[in-house]
Amino acid sequence: MNCNIVMSKIDLYFENRLWDTEIYTINKHLEVCKSCRDEYKQMENLFNMLSTHQVALPPIDFTKNVMKEVSNKCKNRNRFPTSLSRLAISLVATGILFISLNIFSLDNNFDRLTEHIYSSSLNFNQKIMTPFNKLTKGLDYLLGYWSN
Ligand SMILES: [Zn+2]
Repeated sequence: MNCNIVMSKIDLYFENRLWDTEIYTINKHLEVCKSCRDEYKQMENLFNMLSTHQVALPPIDFTKNVMKEVSNKCKNRNRFPTSLSRLAISLVATGILFISLNIFSLDNNFDRLTEHIYSSSLNFNQKIMTPFNKLTKGLDYLLGYWSN
């Protein structure tokens, strides 16, 4: 067995994963080859250090605590941050102000007021529904195209 083969198997040697004949051959080589013996000593020190080194284990409830923390973070993410909720509140307040100003500018004329509310809600509805109508028409077209 030459030096390269011995060095390629030295970690298996320390892990007791070699055949007895291989172990015997490596031992015989180590007796006569100083460079491999030096390498072997270094590996032996390393393996001894690793085997006596205390493994730091996490506490038993570590995973449970981490998952709980992740779950809490996810719940908090769904809520509005305070700055955003303040912005939303001020937008709602602005909307209420505009609506009340519009009502007062109509000189308390109830017919004009209802007409205004009706036409603006219709307008709003059309603006929201137009893209959906286009999408539905497109899907109808595609379904018709595929079924023919
Ligand atoms: Zn050697």
